[in-house]
Amino acid sequence: MTAGKVITIDGAAGSGKSTLARSLARVVHLPYVNTGLMYRALTASAIRHAVSEDDVQGLLDLTRGLRFTLGGSDPHELTVEGFDDRALTSPDVERSVSAVSRHPRIRAWMHEVQRALGADGAVMEGRDVGSVVFPDAVVKLYLEATRAERIERRARERSDAGSDEIAAVLEARDQLDGRTNPPTPPPGAIVIDTGSLDADATLRTAIALIRQHAPELVP
Ligand code: C5P
Repeated sequence: MTAGKVITIDGAAGSGKSTLARSLARVVHLPYVNTGLMYRALTASAIRHAVSEDDVQGLLDLTRGLRFTLGGSDPHELTVEGFDDRALTSPDVERSVSAVSRHPRIRAWMHEVQRALGADGAVMEGRDVGSVVFPDAVVKLYLEATRAERIERRARERSDAGSDEIAAVLEARDQLDGRTNPPTPPPGAIVIDTGSLDADATLRTAIALIRQHAPELVP
């Protein structure tokens, strides 16, 4: 599939993808698609319906109940019907999401839906968006930060959890996610080290890079 107006942002948990992707989507006037939310929604649904993270057919059956839409404005963004942010970021979901996401048949289903969501252009973030979903994206970004920086960022976002707990869950997710998608930049990606950058500086860096590689996308 050609991907004339797709910008991909990949990176590990806590690398700053969501903050950058949402603000970038506003600047370039494209919908923001957080693919992590899709895997989280399936995981939340599995917990709700007591389907095991190992039961691939059971999980595939649950996908029929998922509704992903692009809604809202500034930016237009992916929303999951029936699940609020709290449900999608609960500790139970964080503990199971990597195991749910590891199944190739689940990933194939997600990829198809993601390609449809990005067909008219999108800023799409995840783990494999630049490598698998839209390998021909016009700009591919890959965010890097050290584990300590990623834990610190998560701790700021999730004030309800202690930093030891955040570190343990992040470590476990890194391990499992790394088996499904190696934590390395996809071919052709531009790496941004977000460790020493705040959200504004990360956005400025990304815009400067997009101006160089796809000036038509930046107003
Ligand atoms: O991006 P976020 O941390 O919210 O993603 C939640 C989980 O969803 C990841 O830990 C990973 O298991 C899964 N995921 C994935 N592929 C993607 C995006 C997320 O497997 N493209």
